[in-house]
Amino acid sequence: MSGESVSVVEEGGRAALERVRVVLVETTHPGNIGAVARAMKTMGLTRLTLVAPRIFPSAEATARASGADDLLMAATVVPTLAEAIADCVAVFGTTARPRYLEWPVLPPREAAARVTALAAEGEVAVVFGRERTGLTNAELELCSQAIRIPTNPEFSSLNIAQAVQILAYELRLAVLEGESAATQEGDDPLATAGELDALYAVFLEGMTVVDYFVPERPKLLPRRLKRLFNRAGLHHSDVQILRGFMTALLKDRGRR
Ligand code: SAH
Repeated sequence: MSGESVSVVEEGGRAALERVRVVLVETTHPGNIGAVARAMKTMGLTRLTLVAPRIFPSAEATARASGADDLLMAATVVPTLAEAIADCVAVFGTTARPRYLEWPVLPPREAAARVTALAAEGEVAVVFGRERTGLTNAELELCSQAIRIPTNPEFSSLNIAQAVQILAYELRLAVLEGESAATQEGDDPLATAGELDALYAVFLEGMTVVDYFVPERPKLLPRRLKRLFNRAGLHHSDVQILRGFMTALLKDRGRR
């Protein structure tokens, strides 16, 4: 893949993160709002919406943001959760409660994959609750999905900024994985079954020439070799190196 198209992929991922908003509902401690901004900015998230924060703006929030105060300056403040999410195509609510049976609950990694995929379609919100009481059931019902970070069921509640950090990290990983998969495929595709078969055949031939493999007594070697090549996740260029090397050896031995 050319440098140009890699940057298109990167922009695609980044653009997806720009369509993800973090919504904090009735945060009590302004320091937490700042810490959330910092957690977001480290992972490339930029959009913060505050639903009726108790104290905002605040010097404490700015101090805890430690350089992410641009996110605080740009934050949207609204009176209700409904307003915070009105233009979103999908809304994910986070909860520390281990038993939230009535609603589908996703673990962070799976949720992040869905969020980034949906962000390609439009605005997506990830909603975080009050420090003491979390989100109300009515608020969770405004969310299409719930996300729970699998903490200790006997001590399940994370600090809100730490919960944001974990989810923001998963969102970033999801975007980076998407980028690297696209780059690898573009640059150097995975080897085809035909290429792997040809590699396998030339290896067995080389092994036979040096009597490492005796076709009359194959034992487990052919199967193991095949399994090794399948498991290795070889790309086109990897197969070319290995095949080229084996072919050169055979040529040297006067077999080609
Ligand atoms: N007792 C509250 C805890 C609130 S902690 C409750 O039952 O939810 C403040 C916020 O941090 C939560 O509303 C949620 O948004 C987030 N949070 C804390 N721990 C979490 C966890 N294990 N999984 C997902 N979100 C969590």
